[in-house]
Amino acid sequence: MITFRQVNKHFGSNHVLRDIRLHIEQGEVVVVIGPSGSGKSTLIRCINRMETVESGELSVNGVNVNDRRTDINKLRRNIGMVFQHFNLYPHMKVIDNITLAPIRVNGVPPKEARETALFYLEKVGIPEKADAYPSQLSGGQQQRVAIARGLAMKPDIMLFDEPTSALDPEMIGEVLDVMKTLAREGMTMIVVTHEMGFAREVADRVVFMDQGAIVEENEPEAFFSNPREERAKLFLSRLL
Ligand code: ADP
Ligand code: MG
Repeated sequence: MITFRQVNKHFGSNHVLRDIRLHIEQGEVVVVIGPSGSGKSTLIRCINRMETVESGELSVNGVNVNDRRTDINKLRRNIGMVFQHFNLYPHMKVIDNITLAPIRVNGVPPKEARETALFYLEKVGIPEKADAYPSQLSGGQQQRVAIARGLAMKPDIMLFDEPTSALDPEMIGEVLDVMKTLAREGMTMIVVTHEMGFAREVADRVVFMDQGAIVEENEPEAFFSNPREERAKLFLSRLL
């Protein structure tokens, strides 16, 4: 579903993605870990072309992301993205945050968009917050709205970039639980996170990045119990 072939990217003289090769199947959950600045965000931002790659090839559903002929809006409609900071519109009610893109971008009739939004609010466990404003919600609730907003576009792929890093500790679990449910239901997910418990429990594969390269890639059990690379060992030892 997603394939990186020898993908490279620089920011100026900074080589931030080095010969990335990665293949993700439909329904897979891949967790990306690594030190700050290792290129994790850049890697996943390339998938919906929030960043462009310089060389190599990146394809999503068989479509070359960086081909000039690729319909970028069509590509993005199919990829939900959840960030560390929830980026909800503060002046809009929860329900309107969720229905905005389906109505404006996908042309879904408002009534149908509303029903879909309520369905996903139910799914993330806060149907009663439809008419609240983001400022009236906790961080964990806001992030769950952000996930519902992504799902309301009915994407095939969900990208998560440190979705719990800005949350108070007691709210991390409720967001991870929603993500676990999605994973169980077969969503294709790429998750950048420092939550190693989540990686162990949910990931089909763990990808460890350092200095722009994928240094190690393995099933979680094997990766955590017996990392092969020194840099991965060092990274894991510092988390404890
Ligand atoms: P991570 O998510 O693993 O912390 P990033 O992908 O954000 O890493 O960053 C990788 C490298 O690229 C870092 O050295 C960072 O400073 C640099 N970088 C990221 N975004 C930009 C940008 N828009 N312009 C210039 N440099 C950037
Ligand atoms: Mg990052």
